Amino acid sequence: MKQAERTCIVCREKHEKSTFVRLCLAPTGELVWDLRHKLPGRGASLCLNWNCLRKGIQHKKITTALRTTEIAPYQEREKIAELMQLTKTTLLNYVKIGIKAGKAFSGYTKVMQVLTRERVSLVLLARDISPSRRRNILTFVHDRNLKLINIFQQSELGELFQADDRSCVVICDAGIAESMNYFLELYRILEEGSATWQN
Ligand SMILES: [Zn+2]
Repeated sequence: MKQAERTCIVCREKHEKSTFVRLCLAPTGELVWDLRHKLPGRGASLCLNWNCLRKGIQHKKITTALRTTEIAPYQEREKIAELMQLTKTTLLNYVKIGIKAGKAFSGYTKVMQVLTRERVSLVLLARDISPSRRRNILTFVHDRNLKLINIFQQSELGELFQADDRSCVVICDAGIAESMNYFLELYRILEEGSATWQN
């Protein structure tokens, strides 16, 4: 069955609903991100690229698209920051699913063991991991062409495992890793875009 299509409010291109980032007008009048396409209410679809995300959150654009002036005041930069945070949380939630399923392992020693013995789908390296450990793990990542996430701090990864710090995590489940792709791409776009955002 064909998926429902939506049109981007910026470039007017049509895509499958699930490839869009959705902005939704909450009953309170607040503009909220709806990454799961589940929230009720009027919504706007934006393509998964910086141009459409950046222009799509402009007051004028969104007011026209939602055909209302009753939108609670907001800062465009804050909206982008909110989306970045939401994307990070979503990625961490996938790691939690991996932990529950017994498919996620953490800590340098354990991760090195798993990397030598098991089929790994995804590696998360803390930004503040020590240089020597980073080098050792990256050797595996490059040799096997593994997918890598390095957007979290040791404390953020540690929290998932009810520990103080975790320098690295591996996920041994292709399905979970696959589900994270969209959010990884979204995060990459937001991070790169924000870095070049002049005003
Ligand atoms: Zn677009």
